[in-house]
Amino acid sequence: MENVVPLTSIAEIAEVIGRCQSIAELESLRVHWLGKKGILTQALQGLAKLDPEERKRHGAQLNSWKAQFLELLDQRRHLIEAALLEQKLIRETLDISLPGRNRGRGSLHPVRQTLDWIEGYFSGLGFEVADGPELEDDFHNFTALNIPEEHPARAMHDTFYLEDGRVLRTHTSPVQIRYLESHQPPLRMIATGRVYRKDSDLTHTPMFHQVEGLFLDENASFADLRGLLADFLQNFFDRSDLQVRFRPSYFPFTEPSAEVDVACVLCNGTGCRVCKATGWLEVLGCGMVHPAVLTMAGVDQEKFSGFAFGMGIERLTMLRLGIPDLRLFFESDLRFLRQFS
Ligand SMILES: [Zn+2]
Repeated sequence: MENVVPLTSIAEIAEVIGRCQSIAELESLRVHWLGKKGILTQALQGLAKLDPEERKRHGAQLNSWKAQFLELLDQRRHLIEAALLEQKLIRETLDISLPGRNRGRGSLHPVRQTLDWIEGYFSGLGFEVADGPELEDDFHNFTALNIPEEHPARAMHDTFYLEDGRVLRTHTSPVQIRYLESHQPPLRMIATGRVYRKDSDLTHTPMFHQVEGLFLDENASFADLRGLLADFLQNFFDRSDLQVRFRPSYFPFTEPSAEVDVACVLCNGTGCRVCKATGWLEVLGCGMVHPAVLTMAGVDQEKFSGFAFGMGIERLTMLRLGIPDLRLFFESDLRFLRQFS
């Protein structure tokens, strides 16, 4: 066999084939041995030069090697293809038990939720929801509400003034005046929206939300006011036995005026940090509409009387949801907001 083919045994070539890791490597090995100029191909072509006896012997040997070589190539190809398929299956596995991707559904801000609830409650009692400008003139924000210039009550409002004399409204009360300019009693309205004061600490922010209510009718009395607000608060805090009390107070645009407390919803009136150990929480202000305001609005006071009330939405929301810090409403922290979706 010398010089016919440089191969000591089929075991040697089997080992080379066994080391192949890809179809491309196998192919180059096949070309090396059995291509047009491959070693075995040339050896087979060389048989023609041999005499018949040797040709027969070498021919049988070479053809046996060729057959074994092709068989080994074939086996190795199947192994490599099976391994590739295995890898592909692992790579493309679809785990149908995995949880779905969260689409992060949004939700209404807790302040908006409270506003919606309050608008829904009063709408159900026939109140119209009215709106007014946040940039307000002095007349509507103060004078028409019985707070003339030099009136000490103006000092209670830490007002943002514009150069042209207008103000960022300090309360939603001017919407009452605007509503009275275009509506005749009997009437029921509430106004909701942003108000502004130069005030910033643990329990105050320069912007917050108020709801203002106005009720004018024949024979409207303080008893009507008391009944309405008690029912509102008991529904809002979802406690039918919630204790409500009215304390005499002062507002320029109502007379008599009262501040309204509820039994502390956090400690049930036994006293805690939030109610400063008093057992009561102040939640809104109210009163019978001041005669000066009705006169300014041109309301027939022989026939009509009425009441008004106002409340801070952030404070009510904090109490209802047990939120300790007012500033959480304005920090847009999703970890906080997602708790109320
Ligand atoms: Zn308390």
